[in-house]
Amino acid sequence: MEKETCSQCGNEFISGLAFCPFCFSPRVKVKKIGNFVVIYRPPSESFAYLSKGLVESEGITTFLHSYQVAMYDDVGTMMEGAWGELLVPKSLLEKALSLFQGFSLGEKPEDESSEDPS
Ligand SMILES: [Zn+2]
Repeated sequence: MEKETCSQCGNEFISGLAFCPFCFSPRVKVKKIGNFVVIYRPPSESFAYLSKGLVESEGITTFLHSYQVAMYDDVGTMMEGAWGELLVPKSLLEKALSLFQGFSLGEKPEDESSEDPS
């Protein structure tokens, strides 16, 4: 997967995240549904629930929308290889984004414990 950096702050983007988690500038066109904003497009179901749990652990309401579920049309409309969309309230967007800092959602979670003592 290619590594992209933020044009505003130079930090590395997290794969699938629609905003920079450090300066909150949008990486892609912002998609809103009502008062909710698409914050993340998980590549798989496990990433979807991982990110949902991460954000909800801070008491933020999330809305997970899967492309895999036929809602209006036939199944098979896979959007850019993503599994779906994670939405958060617009008012809590920056708080939710900051939770993604240092969270390597773009990579497979490693079993080896490499915890920094700092
Ligand atoms: Zn940035």
